[in-house]
Amino acid sequence: MSRLAAFFPDYQAASVYDLAPEWFRERGFRGLILDIDNTLVSPNAPADEAARAWTRRLKEAGLALAVLSNNSRQRAESFAAALDCSFVAEAGKPRPEGFMRAMEMLGTDRQSTLAIGDQLLTDVYGAHRAGLKCLLVDALDPAREQPFVRVKRLLEKPIRRAYGKAKQNKEKNS
Ligand SMILES: [Mg+2]
Repeated sequence: MSRLAAFFPDYQAASVYDLAPEWFRERGFRGLILDIDNTLVSPNAPADEAARAWTRRLKEAGLALAVLSNNSRQRAESFAAALDCSFVAEAGKPRPEGFMRAMEMLGTDRQSTLAIGDQLLTDVYGAHRAGLKCLLVDALDPAREQPFVRVKRLLEKPIRRAYGKAKQNKEKNS
């Protein structure tokens, strides 16, 4: 197993909006911990109709939702209010504590909780440190990323290459 495996996502999708509530339920997930910026909306954009409609469908299907963001309290709080879900702000991802706190809010356990985000070094690695599975999505609007995030994208490149190779090998051997 690659020593980078802690950064490899358990699932991958182009966008969360491609996934129906059943996709999560069929895999045993009852609680979702959602990154905000570049996962649900463009960086620092307010909750839009796509985010509202998608989260409404999930909640109607019985899934519990919390947003977990390294962004400010004001940002996470107003976003969570628009979606009517719990939040953890200034989460310090990839530290595991924020994930644990969000999971407590959801009332779920490690097996029934899925983390979702767009970054390998914070969302995926942090979820794994907390013992959670993680779904990686493509960044919605990478052009609007902060310089600090762009540096992390450069660091992601060799990991994405290694992940691609590991996936190919798995497919070959199965
Ligand atoms: Mg993000």
